[in-house]
Amino acid sequence: MEKRDRLYEGKAKAVFATDDPNLLIQYFKDDATAFNGVKRGTITEKGVVNNMVASRLMTIIEAVGIPVHFIKRLNAREQLIRKVAIIPVEVVVRNVVAGSMAKRLGRQEGEPLPRPVIEFYYKTDALDDPLITRDHAMVFGWATEAELDWIMAACLRINDVLVGFFANIGVRLVDYKLEFGRLAENPQQVVLADEISPDTCRLWDMVTGEKLDKDRFRRDMGGVVEAYQEVARRMGLALES
Ligand code: UDP
Repeated sequence: MEKRDRLYEGKAKAVFATDDPNLLIQYFKDDATAFNGVKRGTITEKGVVNNMVASRLMTIIEAVGIPVHFIKRLNAREQLIRKVAIIPVEVVVRNVVAGSMAKRLGRQEGEPLPRPVIEFYYKTDALDDPLITRDHAMVFGWATEAELDWIMAACLRINDVLVGFFANIGVRLVDYKLEFGRLAENPQQVVLADEISPDTCRLWDMVTGEKLDKDRFRRDMGGVVEAYQEVARRMGLALES
């Protein structure tokens, strides 16, 4: 596998072409941003931890029959992935009230939800990722009804798997963001894409409630690197650099 030009550089990751037009390399950086890029920083070795955590979680999800863009982890900071066209609808799955849901609806952070809640956001930095309905996604052609149905079913299955996985290591999976894409080699096939990591999840220690995720960075709580490493440690991942 030959690594070629950088195709895209995002806030936390970069994507490179390979000698196979259907395969890409996803590189995890240490850069962190919050509040749509207003707050910036670097979290030492974050890219290494997130690559390991995200690789393991993608493997777990694929094992229950949900197609993913992830193929394999290549080294400390890189994954081999299938090329996809990202569907511009970010999906947030919530098990506990937190973050924007607490603020928008005037609920207390930490209130458990009686069942998972799925929200859609339009992925567009210029508008700060607004909350949308399924109808918005359909009428503006961001996703078809069949794709949204498939995505919602996949999210509920993923949630079952991840809630159980994290509970086993003493972590409460509060909420997280998922992205899906259409395979370049077969656009009919939707797959889970992007990453699932402490950057994209709220993870609270089940006993102490301690935050083990990006909220430590967003809220200037300190101990960010240590929290990310603690998640990897509980997942049984040995850190390499
Ligand atoms: N999230 C994310 N990327 C985004 C927006 C949200 O990874 O662009 C994650 C976030 O880390 C949290 C969940 O999605 O785990 C729900 O985020 P929320 O809507 O509460 O927004 P926030 O207040 O965190 O921006």
